[in-house]
Amino acid sequence: MIFSAADFSDHERVVFFRDRVSGLRAIIAIHDTTLGPAVGGARMLPYSSEGDALADVLRLSRGMTYKSALAGLPFGGGKAVLLGDPARDKTPELLHAFARCVDELGGRYIVGEDMNVSVYDVREMQRYTKHVAGLIEGKHAGGDPSPFTARGVYAGIGAAVRYRSRQDSLRAVRVAVQGVGSVGKVLCELLHAAGAQLIVADIDRGASEDVAARLGARIVDTKTIHAEDVDVFAPCARGGVLNDVTIPELQAPIVAGAANNQLAEDRHGESLLERGVLYAPDYVINAGGIINGSGEILGRYDREASLRQIERIGQTLSHIFERSEASHESTNCIADRMAEERLAAARAEH
Ligand code: NAD
Repeated sequence: MIFSAADFSDHERVVFFRDRVSGLRAIIAIHDTTLGPAVGGARMLPYSSEGDALADVLRLSRGMTYKSALAGLPFGGGKAVLLGDPARDKTPELLHAFARCVDELGGRYIVGEDMNVSVYDVREMQRYTKHVAGLIEGKHAGGDPSPFTARGVYAGIGAAVRYRSRQDSLRAVRVAVQGVGSVGKVLCELLHAAGAQLIVADIDRGASEDVAARLGARIVDTKTIHAEDVDVFAPCARGGVLNDVTIPELQAPIVAGAANNQLAEDRHGESLLERGVLYAPDYVINAGGIINGSGEILGRYDREASLRQIERIGQTLSHIFERSEASHESTNCIADRMAEERLAAARAEH
C-alpha cells in the first residue's frame, strides 16, 4: 500500500515504529538523501486515521527535500509523525522511545521540533540520540527555529509586495495572519514594527487576544480569515488551507505564510494562478528555521550568517515569481522544478 500511496514519491525509506511500554506509534519518512542526511521536524497529532498520518509524513518529507534544495543546504528531506493526543500521550518515556528510533537510523534522519513537539522535547530526545537539531543549549546551539522562520516569512512577504505592488515598504499593508503561535506571533511583531495593519485569527483565543492587545491587531473568525479584504493572507497554522472552498473566497492578491502544505493538492497552485493570486510556495518562504539550524548541524553556527541567508529567501521568491509570470506556470510548479534541477545536478555529480 505504501508504494502506491498517492503521496509516495520515490521515498527512500518509510519506517514504522511501535513501543508498547510508552504507547509510541510513529512513522519516519526519509524522502531523498542526495544532498545530505534527511532533516525535518517531528510532529504529534491525533490523526483521524493512520492513512492521514502516512499522507502527512510523505508530503512533508518531500517538502523538506525541496526546501533544503532551494535554500542551498547540504541536506535531504525527512519528517516524522507521532500518532496521538499530545496533551494526553506525550510523556518523557514516549519521547525517549522515539529518540531511540531516530538513533537506530544512524544519522540518516536528523530530528527537530514541529507541531506539538517543542524545542524542550527535542532536548529530552537528546538524551538518547545525537541526531537532533534546533538545540537551545550548547556551543553550536541555534535555538528555537520559529523566530527565524518568521524572519524568512517576513522577507518573503516583503518580496511578494514588492513584486506585486512595486512598493518597498510594508507601511499600511494589510496582512491577515492565520495562527499566531510560535511563528505567527513573531511575524506579527515584525510586520507591526514595519507599519503593517494586522488582522489575526487563532483557535486559541488567548493567543489572538495577546497579539491584539500588544500590536493593535483586529481579531476575526478562524473560519473566515482567508476571505478578509487584505493585501496579504499569511497562513501560519495548519496545512490544506488553500483548497476548492477557500480559493474562490480569497480577496488577498498575495498568499505568503509559514504553514507547511498550504495547498490541499498541487493543482490548487494552478487555481491561484488563474485567479491572479501571487502564491509564495510554502517550503521556500518557511525555510528560515532550517537555514538557522543548518549551522548547528554542520557544527559552525553563526547567527549573523544565518540571518543574511534567510534574507535571501526574498530573492529566491522573486526569481520564482518572474519565472512563473514568464511561463504562465504556477509558482509551486516552478519551485518544484528548481528543486528537481538542483537534485538532478547533484545526482549527476555523484
Ligand atoms: P504553533 O503550534 O506554535 O502555532 C500554530 C498556531 O495556529 C497555534 O496558536 C494554534 O492555536 C493555531 N491554529 C491551529 N489551528 C488553527 C486554525 N484552524 N485557525 C487558526 N489558528 C489555528 O506552530 P508554529 O511553529 O507557529 O508553526 C506554524 C506553521 O508553520 C505550521 O504549519 C508549521 O508546520 C509551519 N512551520 C513552522 C516552522 C517553525 O520554525 N516553527 C518552520 C516551518 C514551517
